[in-house]
This record gives sequence, C-alpha cells and structure tokens, in this order.
Amino acid sequence: MQYNFADTKIEFLKGVGPKRAEMLGKELNIRTFGDLLQYYPFRYIDRSKYFRIAEIDNDLVYVQLKGKIISIETHGQMRASRLVATLKDESGSIELVWFQGIKWIKEKLRIGEEYIVFGKPNLFNRSYNLTHPDIETLAESQQEITEGLYPFYSSTEKLKSIGLNSKGISRITANLVLMAKLSIPETLTPEIISKFRFISREEAILNIHFPANPDILQKASLRIKFEELFFLQLSMLIIKQIRLTKVKGNCFKVVGEKFNRFYHEKLPFELTNAQKRVIKEIRTDMGSGKQMNRLLQGDVGSGKTLVAMMCMLIAIDNHFQACLMVPTEILALQHFETISRMLDNLDIDVELLTGSTKTAKRKQIDKDLQSGKLKILIGTHALIEDTVQFANLGLVIIDEQHRFGVEQRAKLWEKNEIPPHVLVMTATPIPRTLAMTLYGDLDYSAIDELPPGRKQIKTYHYFDSGRLKVFAFMKQQIKEGRQIYVVYPLIKESETMDLKDLEDGYLSLSRDFPLPEYAISIVHGKMKAADKDYEMQRFIKGETQIMVSTTVIEVGVDVPNASVMVIENAERFGLSQLHQLRGRVGRGADQSYCILMTSYKLSSDGKKRIETMVRTTDGFEIAEADLRLRGPGDIQGTQQSGMLDLHLADIVKDEKIIKVDGNVAIDIITEDPLLQMQKNLVLKEQLKKIKKVKGNWEKIS
Ligand code: ADP
Ligand code: MG
Repeated sequence: MQYNFADTKIEFLKGVGPKRAEMLGKELNIRTFGDLLQYYPFRYIDRSKYFRIAEIDNDLVYVQLKGKIISIETHGQMRASRLVATLKDESGSIELVWFQGIKWIKEKLRIGEEYIVFGKPNLFNRSYNLTHPDIETLAESQQEITEGLYPFYSSTEKLKSIGLNSKGISRITANLVLMAKLSIPETLTPEIISKFRFISREEAILNIHFPANPDILQKASLRIKFEELFFLQLSMLIIKQIRLTKVKGNCFKVVGEKFNRFYHEKLPFELTNAQKRVIKEIRTDMGSGKQMNRLLQGDVGSGKTLVAMMCMLIAIDNHFQACLMVPTEILALQHFETISRMLDNLDIDVELLTGSTKTAKRKQIDKDLQSGKLKILIGTHALIEDTVQFANLGLVIIDEQHRFGVEQRAKLWEKNEIPPHVLVMTATPIPRTLAMTLYGDLDYSAIDELPPGRKQIKTYHYFDSGRLKVFAFMKQQIKEGRQIYVVYPLIKESETMDLKDLEDGYLSLSRDFPLPEYAISIVHGKMKAADKDYEMQRFIKGETQIMVSTTVIEVGVDVPNASVMVIENAERFGLSQLHQLRGRVGRGADQSYCILMTSYKLSSDGKKRIETMVRTTDGFEIAEADLRLRGPGDIQGTQQSGMLDLHLADIVKDEKIIKVDGNVAIDIITEDPLLQMQKNLVLKEQLKKIKKVKGNWEKIS
C-alpha cells in the first residue's frame, strides 16, 4: 500500500493529468508521486513579510510586494511588444514587465485592485522593475497556505508554458503532500532517529516543501541529506558484503613459475616498497577463495602497469586467463607492446583486441581464447562484448578507468559462474568523501611512492605573448636530446574549431621547427587508427622530436625520453586532465617541465586551476581542488547520470554529514552484515529500492 503510493504515476495527481505528466517526465524526470516528493525547492521566501517598494536596493533577493495596480500599458509592436503595469504601495512604485503571455495577463489585471507580487528585481535604466513576476489578487493569495516560508522550484520554459512555473509546481506539490501524509513510511531505524534527534521522515518531507519556519526547515534539510548520503554509503557496503559472503571466488593458491621467473630473471629494476606491498595485498586477496574487487590507486608513473602485469602472471600460474582493459586503442597497443616485450621468452600467449582488429585475427583470438591457449588479452571496451568468450577468465584489470561504474563492473561477473577477480586501477586520486560514496564496495590499495630517481616536474604558466621564449626553450631541450609534447584541447561542441587550432598550431610549429633539423608528429582523434599508430611509433622511436596532439595521449602513454609537456589553451582543460597530461613527462631521469599556455582572458576558475597546477604536483591536493571547483558531476566515474542519485545533499558541501553517516553505516554492517536483524529490516527495505543493490541481491537469491 505505502510502496504503491510513491510509485503511483504522476498523471493521477490532482492538477496534473496526461499532458502535464508527459511534460514533467520529459523535462524534469518526474514520473511518479515519489519523484515529485523528492523534487525539492531550491530557495524559500518568507511569505509573512512584505517588502516596501522603496526598500528594494539590489537584484539578488526575491521580494514579495503588496500594492495596487495604477496603470497598465502595452509598448512596442508584435513580437517586440511588452506589457508594463505599475504597482504602487505607500512607499513608492515599481514597473512590472511581461514579454510573453501578454494577452492573458492583461485580462487578469485590474486597475485599482490590490495584488500580491513575487519576483526578482531587475536593474534597468537605473531603476528596478520586476520581469515576469508571479502575481495574484490579495483574495486569491489568501486562499492558500500563506504562513511560513514559500518554496521556489526550478522549472523550464516548456513547463512554464503549461502553467507549471515555480508556483504551479508548488500547487501540485501541495496537493501531493496533503495526500501523502499517511503514506510516507519511515526509512531509518528508531536507534538512528533518536541518536541524532531527527524529525520523522514524514515531517521532513512536509517541511522541506512547506516549512513553517526556518528552524524546522533546517531540521528537515539535515534529515533528508543524512538519509541520502547514508543509503548511498550503506548500499556500497552492502554490495561489498554480498560479494564477501555470498559470492565464490577463484582461489589462486600458488605463486608459480612464471611469476618467479619474471621476478628473478626479467625485472630490470627493483620494485618500490609500495609496489611490493600492493602485490602482496592483491595476492592474499586472490588466494582467499573470495572474489577480489579492488581499487588500485597510484599517481601517474608510479608503476601500476607493472603491478598489473605481475598479477596477471599469478593468474596464469594458477591456470587462469587474464585480461587488461583500457580506454583507448593507442593505450591498448602500447600496453600490448610493453607487456609482450617484458614477457618475451616466458612462453605466454598475449594478444591485442580492439575495435580495429581484423576479422581473421579476431577469429584466431576467439579460438585461442576458448581453447585456453591465449593467456593474456589486452584491449579496449571490445573485451567485454558478449561475443568474447574466455575458457577460464580469472582476472580482469581495468586501467585508467573513467567510465566504469558499479553496474558495469557487475556486468563482468555475469560472464562466469565463478566471477573473475577485478582490479580497477586509477591514476587520479579520488577525494576521500567521493571514494566512500563511489567506491565503498571496493577494497583499496595504494602505490604511494614513485620509483627512485624521479625529479619533481617544474610547471610554468605563460601567456600567448611568451611564445617565443617557450619556442627557444623547446629548441634548447631538443638540442639536449629530449622530446616534447604539444597538446591542444578538443571537445565535441567545438570540434571543428579545435581541430583547426591544432592544425594551425602544427603549421606554425613546422615553420619554427623546420625540416630536416626537426621532425614533428601529429595525432588526433579524427585520424585512422593505423595513421595514429604510425605517428605514435615515430615519436616513441625518437624519429620525431615533437608530438602535436589532442588529448588522445592523455591516458597512459609512456615515452620516458619526453621531458616537456606544452599545453595550449590550458585554461580549457579540467584539473584532473591537466594532471594526467603532465604525468606524461617526468618518467625518465631528466628534469621535466610542464608549460601551460593561456590567453589573457582567464575566468576565475580557470585562473585557480592554473595556479593549482603551478603550485603542486600532489595528485591528492589536485583532486580535492578539482572537486571543489567542479563539483562531483565531472569527476571521473560520476559522469553517468544518476550514479550518485542525490537530490538535496552535496558531496562537497556536506562532507561532515558524509563522515558521520559513513560511520553509522559501518557500525550497522559490522553488527549485522546482511541486515538480517529485525530492527534493520526497515533499512533493508529501503536499500532494495536502490537499483544497483537490487541487482546484486537478486543475483544471490
Ligand atoms: P603508471 O601506469 O602507474 O602510470 P607505469 O607502470 O607506466 O606507471 O610505469 C611508469 C614507468 O616507470 C615505466 O617506464 C616503468 O617501466 C617504470 N617503472 C615501474 N616500476 C618501476 C620501478 N620499481 N623502478 C623503476 N622504474 C619503474
Ligand atoms: Mg599506466
């Protein structure tokens, strides 16, 4: 009964109907009663207070006015026409302006009648007006709840055109809230509620929409934020519990011949202590009989790829296959080559599978995979297509993952009765708060140490006017035998212009760095894979000194002799991208440099990003700054819509709440790992409504 209430189609709410329902779904994703209850106001106005017109002195705050209309005029013609009404109270007068819906408003307004007007002041020709205010007669306004704070909902042009402006949404929400009173079930345990002195869920929902006073609004908001962040974290912990208690894993019992031979005979350097520790953690995990699901963090250049490869050797020693999945073809190819080279003479079959693998080759790979002859497969997303069948896949490694969420990871499981171990590697550190909410289902290892002998990369910022200096510096570096990346931004929205920038840049470089003394490679996403590869190879072999490219090189490419990274229009890159790009240099023993070129026009955020890059090379500091500047929506892994499913809480601003309810969630899971105790049933019910948890729960039952 209660469950059905939230799932009832919005169409059936008083004041909605089929047409508005369709539009609500399309524009705001509001399809059910539950969706509307969770569509919270973004601001509130104290309706008990009226502004005096003469007091209006800024355009920041919405105002509520009470006064008489003293004139109504139409100005201009046709599409340019506007309706101007003058509202007067005892302190002064102000113009109300409409550009649309003029006819309708005009019919409604009467000179001499008293009105209540809501709106945001606009400064125009040195006096304030209200454009498209909400307006109603005093009599009309008294029919509604006028006490307390008045909610403002964001709306869209289309919704406004069918009467669902903020006020319209507030009306239907009021209808819903009245009906909902007895149908809003409690979702937290009495223990939690009394510990934090929360108001009930019902009170919270009621008061987040129509708060009686600021104090109760505060309480409602806290309770709702707590709940959103709590269930987010609890869901991650539960997924982890389900995996640990219910899912079998392949037990890798031995560290065998391949691993040992590689370690003793082929490894060209000593592992760092961090690498040793991490390999041990992974080995223990894969030998436990449980499925491993682990996040491996390590800054760019910390040697994750090597760790990944050694873990694959453990899988092979235990007679399993392994695969390594990366986001781009170039990177796949590079990993394929590095790994093939390192495993030379160890008698292990390694293959590459990407979107551009030829059919004949593909057939061969399929055959060898199914017979079990092929041991290591490296590739792009092509690896997880349904057509790829392994004989006995034991370990999946996902490198530099950007677009891999819980659901996709779960997809990897489906292929096998006993799921493979999964290792997710990432170079961009994730701020703690985000890690708890995004990756709480994973175990965690970190390589917190760079291989010895690496020098700190020096980062400089130049405006375009400093270009000659930069060119001179580049020439000097090339003279010393170094190689240089020059990277241009490329985003879909401005692709044509961006490619032109890149080509212009390439031409101008070709003039300043002429053949035969200099040779320049160029790589961008619009080139054929074979051409890209050819250019890439020339650079890797040192035949060209400069690599001009778009961000295709952003992830993972390893050319130790490259020591300068020049980033053009650096202000257009996000922080984590800049950090990734910078990580392409500083891989050899030489001093490396990163040069950020920008125009003079920098937004304040752009400036902060550049300053952050110049100030620090610490990935964690950069990730925190990134989260603050951009919010979580753009941080890696969170792009998928609905991944976080937060309506009120904010992962940056509500950091304190995250920590508190994270601890509550941990305590609960520690006491009752699968929520089987009577008192926790209410939590379990709520969790089952979360899609990703639901899928996992079904899998085991
Ligand atoms: P990541 O994937 O973490 O960015 P890579 O695995 O690509 O880093 O390693 C970066 C470079 O450092 C590679 O050239 C690799 O051979 C080298 N490297 C890795 N581990 C060590 C080590 N322990 N000592 C010296 N060099 C190392
Ligand atoms: Mg790497």
